[in-house]
Amino acid sequence: TICNKMAEFEVEETPHNDSELLKITPLGAGQEVGRSCHLLEFKEKKIMLDCGIHPGISGLAGLPYIDFTEPEKIDLLLVTHFHLDHAGGLPWFLQKTTFKGRVFMTHATKAIYRWLLSDYIKVSNISTEDQLYTEADLEDSMARIETINFHEEKMVGGIKFWCYHAGHVLGAAMFMIQIAGVRVLYTGDYSREEDRHLMAAEIPAVRPDVLITEATYGTHIHEPREEREARFTNTVQDIVNRGGRCLIPVFALGRAQELLLILDDYWANHPELHDIPIYYASSLAKKCMAVYQTYSNAMNQKIQKQLNISNPFQFKHISNLKGMEHFDDVGPSVVMASPGMMQSGLSRELFESWCNDRRNGVIVAGYCVEGTLAKHILSEPEEVVSMSGQKIPLKLSVDYISFSAHADYKQCSEFVRAMKPPHVVLVHGEANEMNRLKLALNREYEDDPEPIQIHNPKNTESVQLYFKGEKMAKVMGELATTKPKHGDKLSGILVKRNFNYHILAPSDLSAHTNLTMSTLTQRQSVTFTASLSLLKYYLHQLSDDVVVLPLSNGREGLRVFGAVTVVKEQNMLLLEWTANPVNDMYADSVLAIVLRVDTDPQARKIPVQRIAKPDLNREFRERLEVMLEGMFGEESFKDPTSSGPDQINLEVDGFEIHINTKTRVVTCAGDENVAEMLEESIRRLYTTIMPVETV
Ligand SMILES: [Zn+2]
Ligand SMILES: [Zn+2]
Repeated sequence: TICNKMAEFEVEETPHNDSELLKITPLGAGQEVGRSCHLLEFKEKKIMLDCGIHPGISGLAGLPYIDFTEPEKIDLLLVTHFHLDHAGGLPWFLQKTTFKGRVFMTHATKAIYRWLLSDYIKVSNISTEDQLYTEADLEDSMARIETINFHEEKMVGGIKFWCYHAGHVLGAAMFMIQIAGVRVLYTGDYSREEDRHLMAAEIPAVRPDVLITEATYGTHIHEPREEREARFTNTVQDIVNRGGRCLIPVFALGRAQELLLILDDYWANHPELHDIPIYYASSLAKKCMAVYQTYSNAMNQKIQKQLNISNPFQFKHISNLKGMEHFDDVGPSVVMASPGMMQSGLSRELFESWCNDRRNGVIVAGYCVEGTLAKHILSEPEEVVSMSGQKIPLKLSVDYISFSAHADYKQCSEFVRAMKPPHVVLVHGEANEMNRLKLALNREYEDDPEPIQIHNPKNTESVQLYFKGEKMAKVMGELATTKPKHGDKLSGILVKRNFNYHILAPSDLSAHTNLTMSTLTQRQSVTFTASLSLLKYYLHQLSDDVVVLPLSNGREGLRVFGAVTVVKEQNMLLLEWTANPVNDMYADSVLAIVLRVDTDPQARKIPVQRIAKPDLNREFRERLEVMLEGMFGEESFKDPTSSGPDQINLEVDGFEIHINTKTRVVTCAGDENVAEMLEESIRRLYTTIMPVETV
């Protein structure tokens, strides 16, 4: 096989040039939560990670800072999960910018993305001018999105990538991206805790050079899952027991399914609650059932076992509610409604109508972004401003029990310890939380033998790291049949494919690459009426190397410089040579002479005169004397009487030099090198002057 014949050579490069610069630039979610979008640039490749919108800002202002890049230059876009802050900007980016690269997400993410964003367009209640895209744009974006299986390796233009389970929500993935041997892991949102239906985030088996991780919870530590669930169900029960309505604002899909599993299970175990209705107010209720059944393989073992018996997503105590008009609000109830941060829509409507009754309660069950109503009420204000601009007193109880499946400090630090990347880039966290996390991680690793550098860039600020990357050239094929010894010189063709280099013999090209070796033969025909022997005479003045080629049919040909073939056929002259820079130059010189001989009437006479008066020997002798004078000076010529007609004697630096002009043999008593060197110069002079013996 090829492999065991390969030897490896390192292609040397100077350190820290631009080709080693790896840049990571958050275009969103840099020291903030929302509109996740990061640009990864290395070796002239550009990859965008996520394309979210900021849930707290509407319209174009809620998009990532796309103007800081040129979308048409981005090769690849990887979307980690369907949440709006990671995928909400996608229909806009795909349909309204010049981006023409490829987009990947997992199957489940793609399925849910469509329903979730469709719900977002319907419930977001935004004015038309603030609307980033329409249902049609969302529909069109589906055709451009490609899917990837967990652990499946893909390659796009030399960028290798694959993904791992991230927990968090159904279909959520972390992406490992490898370019020229340098690996970057982007976690997206992740959770290392298994819950009722999701598996915990995986720990990749390969170590990345850079880890881009969410920092949402900073240095907070989550309360244990059982305690959190108990606190949640107790709070719900307290509210309905006091005759109140319990509002749970949630994203339509995602964490809502986990809460529904908890509530359905709790109601099943508490018959006294059976006359209290639980509503899941979402137009997606039916669709999401199908999606959750289809992608059960992306869930944990527990739920897969349950699914074999009966479908736990077929809730017994929960009814679906399409909208306010179908809601008979007569007494205590539990309602889960989107959107999760009550920016607008059904959850906002219910909140405003239940807000001033102290029996009622709202349970904020997920992470809240700055600028949203859910975040605002956590600070316990006296009143809030309604969608129509009126002030309403805030009397209902507000509880915050987070079910958002993000890594807390413990999970994050364990994850970093398992990965041991030389660089960690923190994203997706409020500036203060992120800073606290950075300090804590720095403290944890300050005495570590393998230091870790923690970065927390702001939006549009780049983290710049230098990686040499792999630069190995593998010698393959014929060149690799014998093991080279140290100091051996190897010559072949360096073939670069993506980020791999191979050195091959030209004849091996077709066997190991898609390339083939071709030779280009140049042919040129010119009219030529003079004789070939005349041409030969002139060509001899150009080169010593003119050979007569015997051809069939009594034709004649010449080969000049060992490269250009000249054949005369009737009144045409055919020149032929294998194209390369040197031969092309030879061919040009030959052609110049051909044209001169054919067109200049003067040229046709010269050989006749020359042959008639063969005083070339005299010319040679004269020019030799000029050359020797130039080389050694006039004073080196010995007494001219000592030189004969075929003899020149010189004295140079005390050595006597004898030159026989007929045999062109040089003797120099005492210095062989001088004699050799001089003989060569004389030979060259002779060949330029003398016509070569006629063949
Ligand atoms: Zn998320
Ligand atoms: Zn997020």
